[in-house]
Amino acid sequence: ATPMSIMVATGRAARMGLLFKDAEAIETLRQVDVLVVDKTGTLTEGAPRLVAVEPAAGFDEDAALAAAAGLEGESEHPLAHAIVQGAQERGVAFEAATDFDSVTGQGVVGSVSGRDVALGNEALMDARGVDVSALVAGAERRRGDGETVVFVAIDGRAAGTLAVADPIRTEAAAAIADLHADGLRIVMLTGDARRTADAVAKRLRIDEVVADARPDDKLREVERLQADGHKVAMAGDGINDAPALAAAEVGIAMGTGTDVAMESAALTLVRGDLHGIVRARALSRATVRNIR
Ligand code: ADP
Ligand code: MG
Repeated sequence: ATPMSIMVATGRAARMGLLFKDAEAIETLRQVDVLVVDKTGTLTEGAPRLVAVEPAAGFDEDAALAAAAGLEGESEHPLAHAIVQGAQERGVAFEAATDFDSVTGQGVVGSVSGRDVALGNEALMDARGVDVSALVAGAERRRGDGETVVFVAIDGRAAGTLAVADPIRTEAAAAIADLHADGLRIVMLTGDARRTADAVAKRLRIDEVVADARPDDKLREVERLQADGHKVAMAGDGINDAPALAAAEVGIAMGTGTDVAMESAALTLVRGDLHGIVRARALSRATVRNIR
């Protein structure tokens, strides 16, 4: 690519809200055949809200929520904000955790109001020997509607479930259709549960889903696709997906995501609109054509 044509393309892209890191990014994007996307904050708005609290038998709804909110006050996970805000909106008072630990890909644990509290997915409950079998059917039903469900345990006993909804971005379905038409295979990665992931994927006609993924699983999935001979672009917000973003041939950061993601990404979608990927590909093709 001539420096001149790249400069022109970069300027035109910037006016469309597409920030390319360098010439190589423009040249590589057109060769990509698989687009990997993170769910939370990329396909969804990334602003989850607490929509339900379902206590286990013998537990009080407000007590389960207060215990959860006490822990989440210490966490920076998107779910944490939804749960703290949910407690505040419902007027449920809670004490801050006096002891706190986060377990990557599983949840948070600690001490709230003198009680031992754990909040997270089935893997976390299993690891701590908490029996959540009475709550699983209800959780799976909500997951079937695309909601994220986490379990609360108090002093080693299942106390209830919290359901959080994160709406799918309004442009996502149309953007995925355009990306398909552009010849891309779309793979969704998420740390969320299988049923929630499948519900979202079905609505968006995503080709393949990797659920219950830890950050290193996300990286491994990108590497697996590359080993199969694919050229991979990956779009994410940088929360738990930074290593995978860095490994992709073209890392695509959402302008609404973390600074770390934008600093390392080959392409930043300033407006966080997935249609930007289709436009950036068209520009990549036109630029390379101009210089041949
Ligand atoms: P993702 O952001 O893709 O959902 P994470 O690795 O952050 O992936 O989380 C995986 C799962 O672990 C979540 O879906 C949730 O069930 C649980 N989890 C993680 N952090 C928290 C938290 N702070 N509060 C409640 N659950 C959590
Ligand atoms: Mg995430």
